[in-house]
Amino acid sequence: MRALITGGAGFIGSHLSEALLDEGHGVLILDNLSTGAMSNIAHLKGRAEFEYFIDTVENEPLLAELIDRSDVVFHLAAAVGVKLIVEQPVHTIETNVHGTEVVLKHANKKKKLVVIASTSEVYGKSVDVPFREDSDLVMGPTPKHRWAYACSKAIDEFLALAYWKERKLPVIIVRFFNTVGPRQSGQYGMVIPNFVRQALAGEPITVFGDGRQSRSFTHVTDVVGALLKLVAEPAAIGQVINIGSTQEVTIGRLAERIRELTDSASPIRFIPYDEAYESGFEDMPRRVPDLTKVHAMIGYEPQHTLDDILVQVIDYFRRK
Ligand code: UDP
Repeated sequence: MRALITGGAGFIGSHLSEALLDEGHGVLILDNLSTGAMSNIAHLKGRAEFEYFIDTVENEPLLAELIDRSDVVFHLAAAVGVKLIVEQPVHTIETNVHGTEVVLKHANKKKKLVVIASTSEVYGKSVDVPFREDSDLVMGPTPKHRWAYACSKAIDEFLALAYWKERKLPVIIVRFFNTVGPRQSGQYGMVIPNFVRQALAGEPITVFGDGRQSRSFTHVTDVVGALLKLVAEPAAIGQVINIGSTQEVTIGRLAERIRELTDSASPIRFIPYDEAYESGFEDMPRRVPDLTKVHAMIGYEPQHTLDDILVQVIDYFRRK
């Protein structure tokens, strides 16, 4: 099979490219390097069946040609990272909504399977954990820009499901829960690369809020393994599917664990949300997936513990 990966030079996209190539598939990448980086895919250059195009999905003639050459489209290109989203809400909404619109429109012409990368962010500030795919989504008010990301991704989901229902375009929607691992950049605010970099540099580890908010971090290899199985599973078509880990940790405890694993003397500094992001910023208190659906569908079980993830990320930053 040949896959088109939009956002293929990003963190998840580059790991997915590698896994597809390792399994003998062809990979076409379309990436505008807005948050992706050539360094993520440098090691793939020169591999047979690998091509990359530095351009945006808004170059519709190119997008259409690449979709025509592919059997499946992984649409990962999006504005990501809470920091980026709060600072550039116009870019976030336009990129996420318009990008998905054009991908679905062109994939529909020849009914190519499309995987839409969505996010656990769509569950919003619901505290009804674990989140099931059919749980209610609880959004904050529109003047708080953070919610623009969740809403833009929710629109992407609606549109993909509408294409499936009305036009029989095969789609699979995956909701990622804090995907992490080597190659993830701290530049866009993600917590683990930031804490690891701070701990290794002996700088204060910056915990936003009181540190009691929790997340469940998922190793990128687990995510990629699930994606490869889902595209081969007919029952996944037309479905919304959580991919994550159920090992929940508070951000305060995460900071302590990273300090322990790096033998760092960094102090832990608590920074109010207003200072870290913007005035009136709202965070999610907890985030844990219900994995019943993906387990039943493809036997998915996350293979990496939080410590496995941290050890690998620390090692990655030390080498860097
Ligand atoms: N966070 C933090 N310090 C940082 C970056 C993030 O305390 O330097 C917190 C953030 O407020 C959130 C959690 O860590 O509660 C996860 O943030 P991230 O941006 O990685 O992902 P999110 O789950 O918010 O999409």
